This record gives sequence, C-alpha cells and structure tokens, in this order.
Amino acid sequence: MQRLDGRVAVVTGAASGVGLGIAEVLAQEGAKVVVVDLAPAPGEQAAEALRASGYDALAVAADVVDRAAVDAMAATVLDRLGRIDIVAANAGIYPAVAIAAMTDSDWDRVMDINVKGALHTIQACLPAMRERGYGRIVLTSSITGPIVGAPELAHYAASKAAILGLMRSAALELVGDGITVNAVQPGNVRTPGIEAFGSEFIADMVKSIPMKRLAEPADVGWAVRFLAAEEAGYITGQTIVIDGGQVLPEGLLD
Ligand code: NAD
Repeated sequence: MQRLDGRVAVVTGAASGVGLGIAEVLAQEGAKVVVVDLAPAPGEQAAEALRASGYDALAVAADVVDRAAVDAMAATVLDRLGRIDIVAANAGIYPAVAIAAMTDSDWDRVMDINVKGALHTIQACLPAMRERGYGRIVLTSSITGPIVGAPELAHYAASKAAILGLMRSAALELVGDGITVNAVQPGNVRTPGIEAFGSEFIADMVKSIPMKRLAEPADVGWAVRFLAAEEAGYITGQTIVIDGGQVLPEGLLD
C-alpha cells in the first residue's frame, strides 16, 4: 500500500481521542493532517505535538455544527495546503440521558453534532475533491446504533445509525467523481470521552470484549488509513467494525 505522501487529510474532532488517533496514523503515513476541533488551543496543541514528531499538521478551529465555520475551515485548508484528498468526519458526542428525561435539546444537540456536522464537513470539502476527481471520505459511526443498543444513549445510537444512511447515500451520489465514502464502526475506544464514564464502566466493557481490552484510538486510525488509501478505490458505501470481537458472542464470555 502506497504511503499518503502529498495527500491532505481533514480530520474533525482531532484534538482528542479517536480523531487524534486517526490524525496520528494518517500523519505517520505521510499525509498533511488538518486538525479540526472546537476551540483553537486544544487543536493547536495536537497539531504542535504532531509537528514535534516530524509530521506535517495544521490546526483550524471550527464547530462542525456551524456551516459557515466549516466552510471557512475548508477555505483555509485550500489557501494554506492547496487541496483536500481525505476527509475523516469524526467529531461526535455521547452524553448519557435516559429516554424518560430526554429533552428536544438533548436530542437535537447530538443529532446536530454527530450527523449534521458530518454533512457540513462533507459539503465543505466536496468542491475541492470534485475538482480533482479524487477523494476518500470516512465517517465515524459506531457499533452502537447500527448493531447494538445502549441504555441512555438512544439519541447517540440513532445518530450513529443515521451516519450509515448518510454514508451510503453519499457513496452513490459521489461515485462518478472518483470519491469513495465509507465508515468505521468502533466498539469501545480508550478516549477521554469514554474514560469520563468511569473505571467501573470500562471494566464491565472489557469483560464483554473477547480480546479483553478496549480499542486504542490508533486501532480505529489504521482502519481509516486503509479506507483512505488510493488502493481502496473500489470500496465504497461500506463499513469496518473495530471492536475486538465485541458484537460476536452469542452468550456470556468467561
Ligand atoms: P472525545 O470526547 O474524546 O473527543 C471528541 C473530540 O471532538 C473532542 O476533541 C471535541 O472537542 C471534538 N468535538 C466535539 N464537538 C465538536 C464540534 N461540534 N465541532 C468540532 N469538534 C467537536 O470523544 P471520542 O471518544 O474520541 O469520540 C470521537 C468519535 O468517535 C465520536 O464520533 C464518537 O461517537 C466515536 N466513537 C467513539 C467510541 C469510543 O468508545 N470512544 C466508540 C464508537 C464511536
């Protein structure tokens, strides 16, 4: 598989967790990585750490819910780096709320960031990819929603199932432009967001995973790297599950 030298990769939610893991792997593989995140400081810190490791990285702050900010981000990338080849629309949140207590604003916030944010990211980067007749878009879904459910995460599960619908439709719309659209479906990944659920939650999850460990962000990063490869050009509208076998068992594990 060819390295990603010369490719420009936009990764949203890249200051932390899964997004940072994706950014690190793509940078290590030679891509110029654009670290997109909400606030300037964490994004700049992540980009600086990548540059300190000898990689090429640029931080651009944008809230993915804000269409104008995402468009401005893409314009900055084109101005500074001249092209966009790879888009990892990864920014997402998963606040726990029981259905009985869930407000419209709880629901809308998760849908806005997790689904509309991915739409904005694709839309902002699309003209540049179309112009070159080349693109690799990878959306971060989850096992939660498309494959399994999770208490207190109904809005999140719905958003991650919606991501797959968006991904498949986009794959069909963009197939004539040399642009592939695929998704990754992580299980439980060791990130600041998951660690905030506490050690008891993590220990319970580990018990349910045949590989007996959470994923590391780089485990997801390598799946994205595969789908972002030039050689993955005949794969579109598909997903890769990265879960250590978590959804496989029919019964309880030892
Ligand atoms: P995280 O909270 O550790 O990191 C999320 C990053 O996204 C943060 O840097 C945050 O600032 C950024 N972000 C949040 N809202 C944003 C917005 N509106 N605009 C731009 N950036 C924004 O979370 P994580 O665990 O790394 O999750 C990242 C993605 O991976 C999410 O889409 C999540 O659904 C998905 N995912 C995570 C897991 C897991 O176990 N950690 C499993 C499956 C899927």
